[in-house]
Amino acid sequence: MSFFVQRSELRDIYDQMVAGQRISEADALRLFESTDLNAVGAIADFANQRKNGRRASYIINRYINYSNYCILSCQFCSFARKKRDQDGFELTVEEIVQKAREALALGITELHIVGGLHPSLPFGYYTGMLRALRNLDPRLKLKCFTAIEVLHLAWLAKKSVGETLVELRDAGLKSLTGGGAEIFRKEVRSAIARGKESAEEFLDVHRSWHR
Ligand code: SF4
Repeated sequence: MSFFVQRSELRDIYDQMVAGQRISEADALRLFESTDLNAVGAIADFANQRKNGRRASYIINRYINYSNYCILSCQFCSFARKKRDQDGFELTVEEIVQKAREALALGITELHIVGGLHPSLPFGYYTGMLRALRNLDPRLKLKCFTAIEVLHLAWLAKKSVGETLVELRDAGLKSLTGGGAEIFRKEVRSAIARGKESAEEFLDVHRSWHR
């Protein structure tokens, strides 16, 4: 038995699992609310090892930034550049497709594509990029955009978030990225990421996408 479980208040849950019993809803809630992360981790590891042994799986993907220009200036961000900066860049759709083509040859199955909130690229650039990548290989999983990028694209498209997501999905988007959550607490968020979406807006984008 793990050292972390031995004296933990969660020990009885561990014992039930070892005995092959299914845990109750109340015990699931105890796991969720527990602050004993080491014990929760040890219990989860036990459940995983029993189910999967030492087998682990992963995907090979390629990360592409279409541009690092951004109209916001989050305090912690070392990625964003302004148009006046020498090391700012934006890729054409052809350049992105070429990067994807090279990565496909290496066996990737997914592209992870994000950028800043570009000051002038039109909505059609983003849908065009998705279509071009889907045409390159329809099996490629296109995981693109953070919640704030989706809000920016909705603003560009002059459509609701839901309608914008439908357009992006129809162009080839398979999933959103989880980036940009940072710290949700309002006072901290407005101090470090002025102008960025609120916690509620972030969650709304992801709720809409799941719908
Ligand atoms: S929105 Fe994203 S890219 Fe733009 S400054 Fe903030 S963290 Fe950086």
